[in-house]
Order: sequence, then structure tokens, then C-alpha cells
Amino acid sequence: MATTFQHACSVPLARALVRSRAIPVSALTLSTPSRSPLSDSRVLLGLSEEELRQLATGLGQQSYRGKQVHHLMYKSKAKDVESFSHLPQAFRDALKEAGWKVGRSPVHKSVMAADGTIKILLKLEDNRLIETVGIPIDNGKGPYRLTACVSSQVGCPLKCSFCATGKGGYSRNLRSHEIVEQVLAIEEIFNHRVTNVVFMGMGEPMLNLKSVLEAHRCLNKEVQIGQRMMTISTVGVPNTIKMLASHKLQSTLAVSLHAPNQKLRETIVPSAKSYPLNALMSDCKEYFLTTGRRVSFEYTLLAGVNDEVDHANELAELLHAYGSGYHVNLIPFNPIDDSEFRRPYKKSVLAFAAALETRKVTVSIRQTRGLDAGAACGQLRNEFQKKPIAEEESQSTTTELQLVSA
Ligand code: SF4
Repeated sequence: MATTFQHACSVPLARALVRSRAIPVSALTLSTPSRSPLSDSRVLLGLSEEELRQLATGLGQQSYRGKQVHHLMYKSKAKDVESFSHLPQAFRDALKEAGWKVGRSPVHKSVMAADGTIKILLKLEDNRLIETVGIPIDNGKGPYRLTACVSSQVGCPLKCSFCATGKGGYSRNLRSHEIVEQVLAIEEIFNHRVTNVVFMGMGEPMLNLKSVLEAHRCLNKEVQIGQRMMTISTVGVPNTIKMLASHKLQSTLAVSLHAPNQKLRETIVPSAKSYPLNALMSDCKEYFLTTGRRVSFEYTLLAGVNDEVDHANELAELLHAYGSGYHVNLIPFNPIDDSEFRRPYKKSVLAFAAALETRKVTVSIRQTRGLDAGAACGQLRNEFQKKPIAEEESQSTTTELQLVSA
């Protein structure tokens, strides 16, 4: 039953008008987020057209004003109530007096790589920085596919050994509108619709599943991105894959395996100690059987650690035992500062893929995009925010698009 999913669309406006939209810490959250000075403002971003219509009538306006607000936020990318210039001043004043704001954050920094990938840092209201990446695929007539890679937490508590985000610490879960606004920011910077969304940025989505599901709903229904165009990733958090499966989303589940056996996996993904590989694989199978959507297994190749042909053979055995309905994505490691890991040679990557193919495992080698823009998850944020708690002046916000040559 899609209780969490439905919750977001069924907030009665009477309640919405008298209560803050701030999302309480989800019961699913395994780590307690630190306290942060988040305001109690009511956030418009995330509301459906029907909710906005009810809000408008509740403030003495005609219902169609709500539809206009919907268009202004999701299509025109209006960032604050004052810029709702099509609307009567009285309505704007009423919204502000009732404490409503759009819920968009300023771009603190943006960096473009030679391949067109753009990574942005958004500065949240508590001065924390999050990363979002826009990845265009160009057919010569402008980007026809634009993927937004969105963050679900500020930092990440799971500390996977190769990950820049894990090294940068953890602050808090993102609220659902802070996930949605990342997609709108990418649309704005590319001046193009986002066609695909992957929840693969900073953080572990399953530790913030409630907000992720609310954002997923909004992106699907309000921003009009198809469910099949969205991917939710996880390194594996006990009991959450079944919970996600129960929502029967038509979205891909991407599971970060990174190793073909429990022992090696625990050295790369410390949190795997509490989630044995056989239990993870069994939950993935249930996801496939419940949703009909194949599971994508992500495997970051780390030179000399997990990239031998023997590892590929062991992985093939694991997957054959799992059954059908999966695909493997191989990701050559994106080097990060202070890492003990190295990027594998191309011939090792090809040999690994060939060993899987020989054993009838469907496999793709992911092209690494935006290497020069610090595309490894968490890299750019770590460069600009060494400490998870922002102590800097909010006035320091800058917008800068910097072309980094390859
Ligand atoms: S790889 Fe993902 S789950 Fe692991 S530390 Fe990085 S952000 Fe967290």
C-alpha cells in the first residue's frame, strides 16, 4: 500500500494552512539528523495543483489562481512569491503574511566540464551545500536527454570507502522540496526539460525514504517526469527495499554492489555488515517480482581491489543464483582526493565486462561524465564546504559558471 506516497497528495489544505510544511524526521531514518536552523515557513514547492487551488480559495482568491501558482513554480521556475507578477498584489501579500514561500535555494557555485556536464552547489536556508549534477546527451541539436543526478541528504552517514560524500560527513536529511528544487535548478541552467532523474547524488535515499517518495511523486505528477525515467539507488539499508517495493513504483531500483561476496563488500561498504549479501539479493528479487522492474546492479571498479576476472566470475555466479530481471552497470572509479583507490585500466574494465558477458550476464560500462568537474559524488561540495556545518556568511553566495578544460 502506497501510504507514504499518497500522503503527499492528500494533505488537506485546512491542515496545510495551519501547520508548518516542515517534514518531521521520518520513522525510516536510521540516523538522527543533527539540529539545524530550518525555518518554519510553509513551502509551496511540492504542492499539487489541487492543493494550490484550495490554498488560493482559502485565502479569498478564485481557484484558478492556484493553477497559476502551479504554472509559475513548475514551468516558469519562479523562485519567490514576490516574483508571481501575474498574480494580484493582495494574493501575494496574503501568501507572505501566512508564511508561504516557494522553497527555492540560490546557486552557490556551478562548474561545467568539457563534456557539457554541469555540477551545481545549492545553498540551503541553513547555509548547507548540496550537489546536483546535470548530464546532457547531445545529438548536435541541443540536449535531447538531460539527466539530473539529485542528492537526498546533506552528506552521508554510510562512509563507503571510495566515496567523497562519505568522507565529507553527514548533516541532515533533505526535505522533499529540497530534492525537487534540484531538478528545477538543472532545468533552469540548461534551459531544457529534465528527462531523467537519478537519486544517486549525495546521501543514501533509503535513509530518507519518506522525502524521496514525496519528491518522486512531485517530480512525476507536477514536473511531469515519467516514473520509468527515474531511478532510486541504494547501497542497501535493511528492510527498506521491501518497503519501496510495496509502493509499486515503475522506477528502476539501482543497487550498489561493488563486490561479489560479503567479505570483500564489507571492506568497501562498511554498512554491509548489518545487511548480509544473500538478504540484500533476496530483497532485490522481491522488488523485481513485485514491481516487474528489473534491478540495476552498480559495480564500481577499483583497480586491484574488485576488478579481477575472478571477481567477475564470482559476480556472475551470484547473479545466476539470484535469477533473472537484472542488469549490471560497471563504473570505472572516478578518482577523488586523498583516496587509496585507483581508477582501473581500460583493458581491466573490458576484461571484466567480457567475463560477465561470456556467462550471459547483461552488462554496460558506464561512461564517466564530467571527470574534470569533480563528478565523483561529493567532490565539489567537499571543495567548498570542508565542515558539514556552515558557519560562513550567507552574503558570500555567488553564481559562477566556470569552464574547466579537460
Ligand atoms: S556511495 Fe552513496 S551510500 Fe556510500 S557513502 Fe557515498 S553517498 Fe553514502
